[in-house]
Amino acid sequence: VKVVQVKEIKRLPESVVNRVAAGEVIHGPHSALKELIENSLDASATQISILCKDGGKKLLQITDNGIGIREEDLEIVCERHTTSKLEKFEDLEAMETFGFRGEALASMTYVADVTITTARSGGKCAWKASYRDGKMREGTKEMCAGVTGTTIAVENLFYNVKTRRNALKSGAEEYAKILDVVTRYASSRPDVAFSCRKVGETRATVNAPLVVLSSSGGGGSEGEREGDRENGEENEPSPSSSSQKCRLERIGQIYGPTVSKELLPLRLKTNNDKLEKKMAQFHMECDILYSNANYKAKKTTFILFINGRLVECSALKRAIETAYQSVLPSSSREKPFVFLSMKLPFKDVDVNVHPTKREVHFMHQEEIVERVQTALEKALVKSNAARTFTVQT
Ligand code: ADP
Ligand code: MG
Repeated sequence: VKVVQVKEIKRLPESVVNRVAAGEVIHGPHSALKELIENSLDASATQISILCKDGGKKLLQITDNGIGIREEDLEIVCERHTTSKLEKFEDLEAMETFGFRGEALASMTYVADVTITTARSGGKCAWKASYRDGKMREGTKEMCAGVTGTTIAVENLFYNVKTRRNALKSGAEEYAKILDVVTRYASSRPDVAFSCRKVGETRATVNAPLVVLSSSGGGGSEGEREGDRENGEENEPSPSSSSQKCRLERIGQIYGPTVSKELLPLRLKTNNDKLEKKMAQFHMECDILYSNANYKAKKTTFILFINGRLVECSALKRAIETAYQSVLPSSSREKPFVFLSMKLPFKDVDVNVHPTKREVHFMHQEEIVERVQTALEKALVKSNAARTFTVQT
């Protein structure tokens, strides 16, 4: 029998506690990037540029043209639980910003070197400061030249957590994960320009300029496609709405025109009088772009945003794959591309979940998943029939 000695209980040093906690928020360069992009969007940026060295392991830098950080706030901006977004617990019920817990920047400083350069509009100059372990490093704050906006550089991620550093994948693999985050956010926000580049390369890997619709077209032919007019009684005829057009153009910028030209719009909306009692008062709106039978891919691309947040929902993903499998002829067992942006009442989606839990749960999930599946099946049958018809004539 092994004898286990009873040991004295000791309080962990705060630095150890913080480093452990940081590792839970920041899994790798891609999760740091997600936080940084969300901060830039919260700061009303319309332009976000990302620069990486060694897949973001050596350097992950993001520059935005947002509102900037006040010079007075630079001292505490990287401390834990410092935020400009949440004041009282009740505010959580209607959070319209991505951030609120003031943990992301702090976490990064516990596992990496963080440098912030920021300037506010109307300010005389820019300010720069470096951070470690939640604190501004003494003597690092200095004035410098710079335009309105913020640049945050995260260097040598996990320099002080050997196991984590070793667990990171190769530069190429980490860069792929970074691109995945960038392209997902970029497809949801055509109103923001995105670019992503490796240090030493002149050409950007992702280059998605602001989408501006040419005003000439108005109700132009671009958005109108077969099968997008009626999508069943409870679904609105999909609008060749400007927002869907912008998104389609953005997806073209990122994934290429061969992808965007095979996508069809579909809009789903709950219609109160058709709802069962338990779902009364529950409003749901979905804007979908889904690939038709011509689209060829080996892997499913499913991009899901709920109330503007990038999330994952495996039940929904499965339902979508099932819809394609049950409708498309088995000869075209290609994987679909689906972009889905869902709006739910803020109060029915809990944002106060663990920072890294991207898998979400929401009210009436089963019913909604089923609705999306049925609507997609109907739309696919229709667009597929229209296509066959076109081919035959
Ligand atoms: P949270 O986003 O939850 O508030 P963070 O640690 O991500 O916490 O950021 C802390 C604070 O730093 C934010 O509340 C915001 O005031 C400021 N901040 C961070 N990034 C930016 C940025 N890119 N532009 C302007 N302010 C920023
Ligand atoms: Mg944040």
